[in-house]
Parts: sequence; C-alpha cells; structure tokens
Amino acid sequence: MKPCDFEYVLPADLNEALAALENTSHRDAKVLAGGQSLIPMMNFRTLAPEVLIDINQLTELDYCRVEGRDLLIGALTRHNTLKNWTAAHDVCPLIRDAYEHVAHHTVRNRGTIGGNLSHADPASEMPAVMLAYDAQFVLRSSTSTRTVRADEFFISSLQTSIAPNELLVEIRVPLRRTSGWAFEEVSSRKGDFAIVAVAVLMELSNGKCIAVSISLSGVTDRSTRVYEAEGALIGTRVTADRIDAALTAIGTSIDFTDSPGVSSEYRKHLANTLAGRAIRTAFQRASEAQ
Ligand SMILES: Cc1cc2nc3c(=O)[nH]c(=O)nc-3n(C[C@H](O)[C@H](O)[C@H](O)COP(=O)(O)OP(=O)(O)OC[C@H]3O[C@@H](n4cnc5c(N)ncnc54)[C@H](O)[C@@H]3O)c2cc1C
Repeated sequence: MKPCDFEYVLPADLNEALAALENTSHRDAKVLAGGQSLIPMMNFRTLAPEVLIDINQLTELDYCRVEGRDLLIGALTRHNTLKNWTAAHDVCPLIRDAYEHVAHHTVRNRGTIGGNLSHADPASEMPAVMLAYDAQFVLRSSTSTRTVRADEFFISSLQTSIAPNELLVEIRVPLRRTSGWAFEEVSSRKGDFAIVAVAVLMELSNGKCIAVSISLSGVTDRSTRVYEAEGALIGTRVTADRIDAALTAIGTSIDFTDSPGVSSEYRKHLANTLAGRAIRTAFQRASEAQ
C-alpha cells in the first residue's frame, strides 16, 4: 500500500522545525526522522498524518559527546553512529550490548535514537537502557525547553510525554560508575524487537549492593523500571535468596502482556529467567571490579 496524501515540510534548522510544529500543533502532524517506524505505519495506513515535518536537515541534532558528567546524544543521531561510537562503550556498556539486538544494519543506518525513543515501542531495547541509566530527555518547543526523566517519558504503547508542539532534541545519560552491567534478550529472530529484554546496572561497596537499576522491555505496555525488585537488592549482600526476592518482585509488580503466540505466562517465565541471568552477570562483573 501507499500512504495517504500528506503535506510535506522540510525545515532547514531547529528554529524552523519548532515553528512548523507550533503552527501545526492543532493538526495531525508527525515528525519524520529515520522513517523506519513511521513510514511502514503510513504505508499500512495505521497512521495517516496530515502533515509530515522532516527533521533530516537538522544536522545540529546529530552528535554524541561527553560533557561534564553526562553523555549527550542529539536526537537525530543514527543508531549506527551511536553503536559504533566506541567512546560510549566504556562509559555506557549497556548501550553497546543492547545494540547487538537492535534491528539490522540498513535499518540502523537510517533509524535515529530520538525516533526510537519517541516511538516508544514497548518491545524496543533502548528505552530499557535509558531507564536503567536514569537518562533525561530534553524536549523543546518554540517557546520553552523542559527536561523529562526517562521513567516519566514512556506513558504507554507508542505514547510519550512529548506534547504536539515539542521535539525531542537531546538525550542526557548521567555518567556514573557502573562496574556491574548486563543486557539479556530473547526475540523471535536476531534483529527483531524483544519478546523480553532486561537491562541491569549494579554497583557494590564492601560486598554490598549500593546501587542497582533493573528495567525491562517487551513485558507490558511500556518499557519499565522495576523499583520493587531493586529494593530487594539495595543495601544487601547479593545472595541467591535476595536474587529470588528480586525476581518475585518482578513477577508480581508487572502486568505481563498477553499476545497471540506469546502468553503472559511465557513472558513472565522469560522475564524471570533473563532477569535472574542479568542480575547474576551484573553482580559477577561488579564483584570482579572491586
Ligand atoms: C525491519 C525492522 C526491524 C526493527 N527492529 C527493531 C528492534 O529490534 N528494536 C528496536 O528498538 N527498533 C527496531 N526497529 C525500529 C527502528 O529502531 C526505528 O529506527 C525506530 O523505532 C524509529 O526511529 P526513526 O528515526 O526511524 O523514527 P521515525 O520512524 O521517523 O519516527 C518514529 C516516531 O517518532 C516520532 N519522532 C521521531 N523523531 C522525533 C523527535 N526527535 N521528536 C519527537 N518525535 C519524533 C515520529 O513522529 C514517529 O511518531 C526496526 C525497524 C525495522 C524496519
């Protein structure tokens, strides 16, 4: 199929793009970044926006750099740029590991990190990574700039807190010591969205867990941090009992998605297995670094 007719706007820079968003905020307008999710949906006519605002000329949003204690990523940075930016790997190993599971080379060449996060597919890997790192998302309109925490950004399947007149312009990943990390995923085929994915970061001091993040994708209507599971580990020695308590919390605090071919029971079972594996790997890495 081909998409319905739409008006096409090609802003030359960020100010023009924000003005275009403001002018069309009362209409059904969509931002076009890499087009790897939006264009298939338009072709299938799942979406039929009246206006398409193409941000591909906004080269000022294509960057990754470390500034102070943050990794700053421009929203128009292509997946492959970030995947291949080795400087990010030492400071954010979860980004490197998760990218082993994200789509295929050609899709990653066009797809952008900003488009990926704004699309908010509940089975996407990068939202779980950003949740684990406590990333912040910078949203701009023509009149204001605001910063939203990752755990307030993802609202539901394909829904975020971006307002119609706003553009996601930057992702800020706070750099903290992360000696323990792990990313685990099961998908139908390599490069497919996750059936279940788990991201874990862990820090130990004197044998005790002093910081941990556990986030999952694929399990419910959005990627989600599981604070209840983290609470079972923080301040404790990470024994098999504590890991079991964290896994129990994952099982009870998530309303697992039931979809054709993948029952909620199976998703729960996978989440338990993958989270257990990820927590143990993160713990082992953190222990070795002590
Ligand atoms: C075959 C295939 C396999 C894939 N496999 C995976 C996978 O395993 N894991 C995965 O995570 N993804 C996967 N994807 C999706 C891919 O990661 C997309 O690149 C991504 O989801 C969307 O990024 P994009 O830049 O292409 O955004 P687009 O498709 O251009 O836009 C997606 C949505 O985000 C909005 N948007 C885009 N940029 C912004 C912005 N800066 N501010 C506000 N709104 C914005 C758009 O309006 C649209 O609603 C796959 C895609 C394909 C085609």
